[in-house]
Amino acid sequence: MDLYTKSKSRSRWTEEEDEILKQHYPNEGEHVSKRLPGRCVSCCMHRATRYLGLQSLRKSQDHNWTEEDYDILRHRYPREGASQEIADLIGVSRIAAGAMARTKLGLRWQPMSKKELLEHRRIKARRKYANPDYRKRIQEKEKSRRMAYSNAGLCRCGRERFYDSAQCKLHWAVSVGSTAGNSSNKFASKILIILEKQDYKCMLTGKTLIPGDNASLDHIIPKVKGGINNVENLQWVTLQANRAKGVMLLQEFLIFCKRVIAHHEEN
Ligand SMILES: [Zn+2]
Repeated sequence: MDLYTKSKSRSRWTEEEDEILKQHYPNEGEHVSKRLPGRCVSCCMHRATRYLGLQSLRKSQDHNWTEEDYDILRHRYPREGASQEIADLIGVSRIAAGAMARTKLGLRWQPMSKKELLEHRRIKARRKYANPDYRKRIQEKEKSRRMAYSNAGLCRCGRERFYDSAQCKLHWAVSVGSTAGNSSNKFASKILIILEKQDYKCMLTGKTLIPGDNASLDHIIPKVKGGINNVENLQWVTLQANRAKGVMLLQEFLIFCKRVIAHHEEN
């Protein structure tokens, strides 16, 4: 049975095509595919070698590899890959040159370093985004996606909302973290752990905290007094308590509260 009848996308090889293969494959190797529109390189190679039993004279076995050839590959393959130029220089097919470089010399085609590749992608993406039509299309798509999620009562990322907030757990924590000066996901998950350790209770008043409503992040030692954005220096309190405490230390805040109570009891 003909292998190609299995796949609808590949039509049966005609006699004319086979004739072209027989005539040109031995000399031209994989380049014979240029004579056969609609046939790719590997299809031609497969047909010629497996079905017609042809052998390319450009195959690597027929080539007497010299140290010079290896040097060419060593110097040029990592950057250029198995280019036609290299293959012609050595006198083999591109496939043979590539196979030799990879298997025998253990070379890898690395047209760019990882850093270069990232930069290359960044430039490409930026160039694409500079196209106003593309940008508009993307922005509209994004907008409609977010609208659909928010209409369905979900976070903009599609996850379920966290308590009374309009966002999911992580995005809510990220937005709270950004007000504290760190909008990373890592910081967000850290402050969520604190919230769970506190069992959703305010550290100052003992009230139940509701994310999106009254939960607020407080610096135990205020930032203006040298407190840092560290997990040890953070606690969850109600928004009211946080506003009242302001930039006071806990001790100062307690004295302040006592003074208020004392004053009211006097009158
Ligand atoms: Zn989300």
